[in-house]
Amino acid sequence: MPLAREAVELLIQAARAWYFEGNQHGLRDREWMALRFLGRANRFSRTPSALAGFIGATRATASQIVKTLESKSFLVRKPSQEDKRSVVLHVTAQGEKCLSQHDPINHVVNAVTALGNDECLRLRDSLREVLNHLDAAHQRLDASVCRDCMFLAERGPATSKGRASAEFMCRLYRAPISLEETELLCTSFERTRDRPKIEEHLDRARVAGQG
Ligand code: SF4
Repeated sequence: MPLAREAVELLIQAARAWYFEGNQHGLRDREWMALRFLGRANRFSRTPSALAGFIGATRATASQIVKTLESKSFLVRKPSQEDKRSVVLHVTAQGEKCLSQHDPINHVVNAVTALGNDECLRLRDSLREVLNHLDAAHQRLDASVCRDCMFLAERGPATSKGRASAEFMCRLYRAPISLEETELLCTSFERTRDRPKIEEHLDRARVAGQG
């Protein structure tokens, strides 16, 4: 347990890089979080409501953050191709540049990269495992990359003219997914191999409750 506590305390110290008072390069920590998420999210998750869910804010707060990012020309709204009544948020080239040059987590990313590939992989998998436990305990799942989602299915190339060929299909949204999109974040993500773990956790909680 002391080792686990020490590891968590180190994580808390690392978190100072992305949770801070005031602003860095003109953006507050939540605005950075929003811009970072929108830069990595797929087309289904680049909406004001998905953003609010991801950053743990109300719709009103998320909408204020979107306005701030728009006013700095880091974001634009465009009508959704799937549903013309909805809007999709797009990070502009200026927003991408700001992320690559000034994102406060860039120093952490560089430090983790310096660990080397194997260590980086172990760290990612360990953190994913920890988050899965927390998600199960709180009955919620955060965003993750599409490639590990239970709704992703392989399919043949699209046949309709003018559409780039899609290698995959999302069974939840009933929409084609390109290979590149499988690397993007989605707030509707459901991890296949994690579901049994969540159920195991709930079963243990039920047994404990009966005891
Ligand atoms: S397959 Fe899963 S992660 Fe990918 S778009 Fe569909 S719901 Fe989202």
